[in-house]
Amino acid sequence: MMERWPIALFAAMMALLPQIPGIPPFWIVLLDNIGLSALVAMGLVLLTGVGGLTSFGQAAFCGFGAYTTAVLTTSYGVSPWLTLPAALLVSGSIAVLLGLVTVRLSGHYLPLGTIAWGLSLYYLFSKLEFLGRNDGISAIPPLSLGPWRMLNAGAIYYAIWASVIICGVLTLNLLDSRTGRAIRALRRGHVAAESFGIQTAQAKLLVFIYAALLAGLSGWLYAHFLRAVNPTPFGVQAGIEYLFVAVVGGAGHVWGAVAGAAIVAALKEILQGYLAITFGEGNIEMIVFGALLVLLLQVAPGGVWPRLAAFCPFERPQRKPDQAKALPSRARPKISAGGLLKVEGVRKQFGGVTAVNNVSFEVAARQIAALIGPNGAGKSTTFNLITGVLAPTTGKVTLSGRPINGRPPQEIVRYGVARTFQHVKLIPDMTVLENVAIGAHLRGGAGPVASMLRLDRADEARLMAEAARQIERVGLAQQMHQTAGSLALGQQRIVEVARALCADPILLLLDEPAAGLRYNEKQQLAALLRKLRGEGMSVLLVEHDMGFVMNLADHVVVLDFGTKIAEGLPAEIKTNSEVIRAYLGVAA
Ligand code: ADP
Ligand code: MG
Repeated sequence: MMERWPIALFAAMMALLPQIPGIPPFWIVLLDNIGLSALVAMGLVLLTGVGGLTSFGQAAFCGFGAYTTAVLTTSYGVSPWLTLPAALLVSGSIAVLLGLVTVRLSGHYLPLGTIAWGLSLYYLFSKLEFLGRNDGISAIPPLSLGPWRMLNAGAIYYAIWASVIICGVLTLNLLDSRTGRAIRALRRGHVAAESFGIQTAQAKLLVFIYAALLAGLSGWLYAHFLRAVNPTPFGVQAGIEYLFVAVVGGAGHVWGAVAGAAIVAALKEILQGYLAITFGEGNIEMIVFGALLVLLLQVAPGGVWPRLAAFCPFERPQRKPDQAKALPSRARPKISAGGLLKVEGVRKQFGGVTAVNNVSFEVAARQIAALIGPNGAGKSTTFNLITGVLAPTTGKVTLSGRPINGRPPQEIVRYGVARTFQHVKLIPDMTVLENVAIGAHLRGGAGPVASMLRLDRADEARLMAEAARQIERVGLAQQMHQTAGSLALGQQRIVEVARALCADPILLLLDEPAAGLRYNEKQQLAALLRKLRGEGMSVLLVEHDMGFVMNLADHVVVLDFGTKIAEGLPAEIKTNSEVIRAYLGVAA
């Protein structure tokens, strides 16, 4: 997170800029255009850069904002300020409708979908009689504050840039929150996010609506800036340009939207000015423009903002969260409660492959159980069946007597089942602390609006304190503020353990947690797991290090080719001839 004073400084600078004596009026017009484009790009930063949803259709939402105020002010005489909520409502509602369809698309279909509705909405704008068809609507009244009518570019400048700065701050607040972490988790796929209770479809829809609202606001301002609208600026070409702006600025960075908008607008202006004069007509400036942008992205593939930010030592000193704040934890099951987890005759078929074949076993309360077997035996699949990532083809899974097979992962984690992944699923550019806090998602309650307005701080402090506590517990306090991607793979697995502990589980599922750890680190992990058992937690772990498993586990289940071949105490398993055969591939 950045300090706030650079933003205040930037705001003061932008406020004073038009007051500079002799500043050319076309600069102000250029700055207005930069601000308008930055607003749309800021939405794309969240949607595309952070959330991973590419949209070429954002310009259409500007169109809804612009046309709403154009129609209401010219045909119905509504005051321009009153049309702002209407413009946002229209853009937001259309975003809900389009979003419900679009965010379900994945891969290439999502951007293609946005192009499709971008094109159709453009034609809609240009064909509707009451929107003035291709001529659009003119004579839109200016914004006014009391007697001050924002008639020229210098006056509406303040409305535009106040919007940019306010929206920038709100967006930063949103990203630095429980909801923000959920949005940032989207880019790394759904499985990990959903395993900690994040409703990924909802989170996607939220960013989609948020981006549309920013575009709608930009469109509303645009209509009162030019005081006329027509369909041209709301087509797919403009949509592509907005995406360009976001990418040039640095698609994951809020202020990158402003930097990108400034660079693209300035480049266009300069090229149009010089090349058009030198080479005459022929759109040579567009060719040079494209080439320069490609060059820029070669030099700064992550966009310009990270490069700019590297020069500014604005980072806030990283503080350790206040540990005094604690979250309530759930009751631990008693030992006499019998089997905590029961897997009964579970089978999972992937086409012709039977990954898990009629497997049954139990994990008792306060027990460390191990699930072992050669590669491909079906261990990870079994984890996925227990945690709801996959639904069993047949069979039953119960937790404390409650059937959980086929339930969604977001529900199962609520009952106290948390896990790690064999293939680490952290968000590499988020800090260890932020990654671990995702584990506590369900233990917080602040929503997006509260987060934007910073009303979530008490809730957030408790989540952060819990995350810090679990990080210290697994022995990574030194790495708390480092990005997860900068840690060694073994340490990343331990971060996953801390993230799972943050969910306050009664059953912890660990998929190869000791892989990549050094001897001492394995000892520490074993000690931690024993301690957790002492506190009333059950652990089910998959592990290939037999020394580690046999020293730690109370009960061992062995799978081979999806079938359970043995079950019992570690000592029994060590001498079981079936198990030896499965591991060594020879008869014992
Ligand atoms: P383990 O974790 O014991 O190494 P897995 O559970 O990952 O084994 O895999 C068991 C079997 O199921 C393997 O043959 C694997 O190729 C197959 N499998 C796992 N997931 C899928 C999937 N999503 N689609 C098809 N086959 C799968
Ligand atoms: Mg596996």
